[in-house]
Amino acid sequence: MLLEVENLYAGYGKIEALHGISFHVEKGEIVTLIGANGAGKSTTLKAIMRLPPPESPTVLNGDIRFNGASILKTEPHHVVAHLRMDLVPEGRHIFGNLTVNENLKLATWTRKDDDIQKDMERVFELFPRLRERMHQRSDTLSGGEQQMLAVGRALMAKPQLVMMDEPSLGLAPIVVRGIFDIIREINAQGITVLLIEQNANMALKIADQAYVMQTGTITMSGTGRELAENEEVKAAYLGKAK
Ligand code: ATP
Repeated sequence: MLLEVENLYAGYGKIEALHGISFHVEKGEIVTLIGANGAGKSTTLKAIMRLPPPESPTVLNGDIRFNGASILKTEPHHVVAHLRMDLVPEGRHIFGNLTVNENLKLATWTRKDDDIQKDMERVFELFPRLRERMHQRSDTLSGGEQQMLAVGRALMAKPQLVMMDEPSLGLAPIVVRGIFDIIREINAQGITVLLIEQNANMALKIADQAYVMQTGTITMSGTGRELAENEEVKAAYLGKAK
């Protein structure tokens, strides 16, 4: 088991945002958490990443294990460097004043291996648009291109697990399809993916396992297909688009 979240309670100050959630991610899987605004999806990812406060919630109870060992006492930079997790953040926090190339290189700061150039090539193969724009300042990229860069950066960090927070947010349908194709491709190359999405339709299509979150709890789980066919899920999250 790559990631296990067990009976996790977490909150911000006096607000408890997660009320004892449990789920797991097996090596090689795509797992998705879906749910409405405010359900606690981002909070879950931030708790796993151990981001510094105030952005990150405080874990009140429960455990988070990566490769079998608890990471609750692990410093954020160790989580990224040693556990090889990376987060493609909602809002794509890339460094706007740096070029595409510089942003990608920066992501490799924790790596000590010799494959950096090879992986850079791989990112450019996945996203030819980024190759064309490698010397361009990142804040001049389009929204979709910035999202590609955020995904590319996560890949350059060479994580065992890549966590993505709403990678389709605000993107045109055609770009969204492209992003989902890439997620599949990344996964086929051996990277495990934990994806949170408002776009439940697409997320459930590519997910091996899926969980529904509602106000800080997990209310349903199953394979992506099971949940996509579930009447309650359809009514609440899939709207008319089937
Ligand atoms: P969305 O899809 O809207 O991003 P979400 O499922 O990711 O929703 P979270 O962002 O995890 O939801 O929010 C869960 C709850 O925690 C919400 O009630 C939210 O107001 C609260 N919350 C999130 N971040 C903070 C924070 N930094 N300080 C206080 N409360 C927060």
